Amino acid sequence: MDSLSETLTHAAHELGFVLVGFARLHPLSEREAFYHQWLADGGHASMTYLAREPERRLDPRRLDARYKSVVSLGYPYAARATPDLDWRAEMRGRIAAYALGRDYHDVVKKRARAVGNIIRQLRPGSVTRTYVDTGPVFEREWASAGRIGWFGKNTMILNRDHGSYFFLAEIFTDVEFDVPLEPYRDHCGTCRRCLDLCPTGALADGYVMSSDLCISYQTIENRGAIPRELRPKLGNWIFGCDICNDVCPWNDAHASHDDADDRLPRLPELLALTEEDFGRRFTVSAVKRAKRRGLLRNVAVALGNTRNPDAVAPLARSIETETEPLIRSHAAWALGEIGGSAARRSLERALRDRDTAVRREAAVALETN
Ligand code: SF4
Ligand code: SF4
Repeated sequence: MDSLSETLTHAAHELGFVLVGFARLHPLSEREAFYHQWLADGGHASMTYLAREPERRLDPRRLDARYKSVVSLGYPYAARATPDLDWRAEMRGRIAAYALGRDYHDVVKKRARAVGNIIRQLRPGSVTRTYVDTGPVFEREWASAGRIGWFGKNTMILNRDHGSYFFLAEIFTDVEFDVPLEPYRDHCGTCRRCLDLCPTGALADGYVMSSDLCISYQTIENRGAIPRELRPKLGNWIFGCDICNDVCPWNDAHASHDDADDRLPRLPELLALTEEDFGRRFTVSAVKRAKRRGLLRNVAVALGNTRNPDAVAPLARSIETETEPLIRSHAAWALGEIGGSAARRSLERALRDRDTAVRREAAVALETN
């Protein structure tokens, strides 16, 4: 390792990054055919931004011809132990570990930019540009090229010491570094726990994921209705999903226990949030990405999945008072899952709802009850 890489690695560690890798930029030709096929197959679902500027993703020097290298950084976050409470009885949702606490985009970007500043101080006149989960960047490709870890079957970057519970950041620069020649060895071996335990079958052989089947996509990126056949498989996940990280043996040592109210919020309380309450509660959280409309849609589905008769009252109230049809229609579905005379009465009233989608959901729910 050259002295600049050593100094930067040390500085990045001081800023809280646990992993630092350096790679020389080159066209990702080996990904090209795969990526175009994945797009053609609709693997990106409604995330149309993934289909934009494929040539820039495949060769970052098209972003800026001066770039020669990429510094990849891994910033850890705490995995959460599997809760031992009965989420159905207590009507608790679940939020993915990465979204707890302050929005990671802000935290990690600030620190990664500080590393970029150090590059420019040590190499005056150099250029740097920092990305955290934004921009046309194949971040996992570069993390793997910089030997931060290997590309696992769960489509995450995995590291033998740090598992996969870390955020990635990239700094593109015109500075050159000594780079490792050998790639990080794949340690998935014959394991396939993530593929077998993914509740929706979103992971397939060949290190690929179908976004439209993934709970993370459905609960965060999908702005419309969640496909009916997927709803029962969401369980109580209301923002993201940790299952393919949790079940990975390389993450075993990293689970921490914490306050259940934070990561396992009470679903009836969430379903009653006004726009103002939502803004106040999630203003510094990554959860705000789903917006109130998306989060409460997910909450309604999770309440249906509790099959708990105590969930009927908050769902019925939502159908009566909620202004957002997307939430009312998912609340109607949820009432159908729970069933019983009170749920039926509410669904019969919902047959006269002003919105077609709500009336349709209510009719389907009543038919199957
Ligand atoms: Fe499957 Fe959840 Fe992983 Fe998505 S995040 S691939 S739904 S286990
Ligand atoms: Fe690889 Fe097994 Fe982890 Fe999946 S669960 S990423 S197959 S080690």
